[in-house]
Amino acid sequence: LDENLTKLDGYLARFRQDGIRNHIDGQSVAASSGESFETRSPVDNSLICGVAKGGAQDIDAAAKAAKAAFPAWRDMRASERKAILNRIADAIVERAEEIALCECWDTGQALRFMSKAALRGAENFRFFAEKATAARDGQSLPSATLMNITTRVPIGPVGVITPWNTPFMLSTWKIAPALAAGCTVVHKPAEFSPLTARILMEIADEAGLPKGVWNLVNGFGEDAGKALTEHPDIKAIAFVGESRTGSMIMKQGADTLKRVHFELGGKNPVVVFDDADLDRALDAAVFMIYSLNGERCTSSSRLLVQSSIAEEFQAKLVERVNRIRVGHPLDPATEIGPLIHKVHYDKVTSYFDVARQDGATIAAGGTTPESKGYYVAPTLFTDARPDMRIAQEEIFGPVLTAIPFETEEEALEIANGVAYGLTGYVWTNDITRALRFTDKLEAGMIWVNSENVRHLPTPFGGVKASGIGRDGGDWSFEFYMEQKHIGLAL
Ligand code: NAD
Repeated sequence: LDENLTKLDGYLARFRQDGIRNHIDGQSVAASSGESFETRSPVDNSLICGVAKGGAQDIDAAAKAAKAAFPAWRDMRASERKAILNRIADAIVERAEEIALCECWDTGQALRFMSKAALRGAENFRFFAEKATAARDGQSLPSATLMNITTRVPIGPVGVITPWNTPFMLSTWKIAPALAAGCTVVHKPAEFSPLTARILMEIADEAGLPKGVWNLVNGFGEDAGKALTEHPDIKAIAFVGESRTGSMIMKQGADTLKRVHFELGGKNPVVVFDDADLDRALDAAVFMIYSLNGERCTSSSRLLVQSSIAEEFQAKLVERVNRIRVGHPLDPATEIGPLIHKVHYDKVTSYFDVARQDGATIAAGGTTPESKGYYVAPTLFTDARPDMRIAQEEIFGPVLTAIPFETEEEALEIANGVAYGLTGYVWTNDITRALRFTDKLEAGMIWVNSENVRHLPTPFGGVKASGIGRDGGDWSFEFYMEQKHIGLAL
């Protein structure tokens, strides 16, 4: 821990001295208003640095820069774009330690998980660098009278709005395909976690990205974020965040007919049948809610467990949950660090009372260790009914709600009985049941006998209140590009 803290001090020195500036048209600039806001560490609420508080004027400058840079970036040879994206990936790998330590300090995420998140960011760039050369590929669909050609063109300057959970990885996940497609970008990162978006921007700049291709404007959602979604030069908004923010963005973008792509909230079920490999199911259930502080859109926050095994499974679960190590995020032994911010801590801990009032049992956790930081003990609610708030609402912390079920039909009804539909996890050794169940489960992504394993060519996204659209593979290009039809008379 001490060694990591010393390294962190070195990495933070320049932020402490200069604060975090915006990056518009290749220039690092203060907010046009001259205002800044503070970013603090959730570990002890200490000040990290000031951050440029961008608003509508800064967004306007960034959108204009992105518009001006668009034609040249669009028309650059794809192999050149590919080389730049690969250089960004290389630099992320070189600076992975700095990114991980800064992100842990900024967000409270445990280093053991975050060190991988930085490298996943590099992978995202490499994957889309490879795809850049085929992004414009179309097809020929000839008829008797016409030689029909379809092709794809980048949509134009796009806005990317990201949340505070795994902010570095998620920014790369959105920005890499946009650049590979030939779009230019204005990025508005989350106000709670601005550090690594700034590092990423610097990496891109040093990798030789032409000025104006990627602009960074820090600020608040209702201010800079809103202005970005309303800007007429911005052709599409890729947004990751809460479902109700997605709905606001849709309204804000209506006047300029924005194309939107939403990755939103979840209340994902892990369904454990009595014929499953229960040891593996237990490992996965623990990992998928108690890693990354449970601040993870794909976390399995509802455990649906068959009644015949519920008692035994839950008893083992309690034992495991009580062993999880809560501590300083830079301690390599830590599994759960502090939650991102006081506002979020208040939200998560409020569910302890909600659970009690609704008549559920707090089988583990439900407490907050004494600290200046925003720590909560990993928590398990049992004896829950599907209609309880703890079984319906996205808590977004290390909090699991266990609900017993008798039959496959009942499990399906409970699993689908929420507003969300991002992921689902099914544990059974009956392949027919797995196929039947996954066919009816309302979720964009389902894993059978597995935790969440991301494979970049596969589609990523949710149904119902969990999102609109898909990322990954060619699906990302469908969002960032327009299909164009050309019919030549024969
Ligand atoms: P949030 O919606 O509060 O904020 C996300 C971003 O939107 C921030 O940058 C914020 O400044 C901006 N924003 C807020 N109001 C805005 C407005 N009116 N106009 C434009 N921008 C605005 O979300 P959060 O609390 O930062 O993140 C957590 C949420 O994100 C959870 O619900 C989680 O499930 C979701 N999430 C989903 C996925 C997914 O892939 N489905 C991935 C990660 C996180």
